Amino acid sequence: METIIKKIDPNNIDQDIIDEFGKMIADGKTVIFPTETVYGLGANALDEDAASKIYEAKGRPSDNPLLVHVSEIEEINPLVKKIDKKAKLLMDKFWPGPLTIVFEKKDIIPYRTSGGLDTVAIRMPSDEVARRIIKSSKKPIAAPSANLSGRPSPTKAEHIINDMQGRVDGILIGGPCNYGVESTIVDLSGEYPVVLRPGSITLEMLREVLGKVELDPALMRKSDNIKAKAPGMKYKHYSPKADVYMVKGQIEDFARMVNEKNKENVSKGIKTGVLCMSKYKDLFEADVFELGDSYEEVAKNLFDELIELDQKQIDIAYAQIFEEKDVGVAIMNRLKKSAAYRLIEV
Ligand code: AMP
Ligand code: MG
Repeated sequence: METIIKKIDPNNIDQDIIDEFGKMIADGKTVIFPTETVYGLGANALDEDAASKIYEAKGRPSDNPLLVHVSEIEEINPLVKKIDKKAKLLMDKFWPGPLTIVFEKKDIIPYRTSGGLDTVAIRMPSDEVARRIIKSSKKPIAAPSANLSGRPSPTKAEHIINDMQGRVDGILIGGPCNYGVESTIVDLSGEYPVVLRPGSITLEMLREVLGKVELDPALMRKSDNIKAKAPGMKYKHYSPKADVYMVKGQIEDFARMVNEKNKENVSKGIKTGVLCMSKYKDLFEADVFELGDSYEEVAKNLFDELIELDQKQIDIAYAQIFEEKDVGVAIMNRLKKSAAYRLIEV
């Protein structure tokens, strides 16, 4: 498949390019575009065949539903059965932005888009390029992250082009993704709201608006056998080719352990990497993949650095762990999956 690749300046948006990509969506094609979280791989959410192309391009299992993106709040009216008070509160406070809400779907949303569920997960992105493409296409856009299934979500142009050229009709390269982790997903169907996927809109922020909100219990453990509300939760995710291990303990002990392993590994031709905050980089003799200086930066950089591990052909990587509060919950959720829950205590 030939892929049209274009760049767009988010500070000076060329409407002709937007309309070219909007038309591709309206014509049932697949387009990768930037959002404020990660790049999305989009197609017309109302067109079953177009939605099928997303699964095909990603190699994604067909029971793992797609997120649907709108450009204005009113656009959800034809898509969902009802909008209750809590949903309204969340939309008023956090849209446009990195929050996805699960609604009961109307028949217009094909089961191919909802992964066979009677619900549909919807968000309104704040990224201007993303919103303009949705508007121009005049369609709700189904768009999961633009990675091959099971791999880290991409936030950088070069990573997308490497993996996805030839698998989609268009790739639009825009500005950097400000958040770097995918949207928070919240389900309001139960007795109290439940977060199915943690993100940059934190539990604390949701609680301020809604009162009681909990993390889905399936997020707490390896969830191979759980009939999860977010079917995506059961699949292996965010895995670089390197074996990633999380390391718990004092940073000095972590560094000592890694530096010893690194010596052994070098003699065996095994390449060792470390994922840690930038301030610790000098403690390590192995290849360091810097995650930044604040939790927000770690969230933004984590997927990039996981992909960089592969580009540098790292065989084994040791990762610092983070406190599970605020955006640390989202960071640890992604890190645990990329490490297949392996943890070393030093
Ligand atoms: P992605 O952004 O590609 O990683 O995938 C979208 C995520 O949203 C997946 O993990 C899905 O499991 C989740 N999701 C999509 N639709 C629903 C839904 N109706 N109910 C619960 N979770 C959903
Ligand atoms: Mg994804």
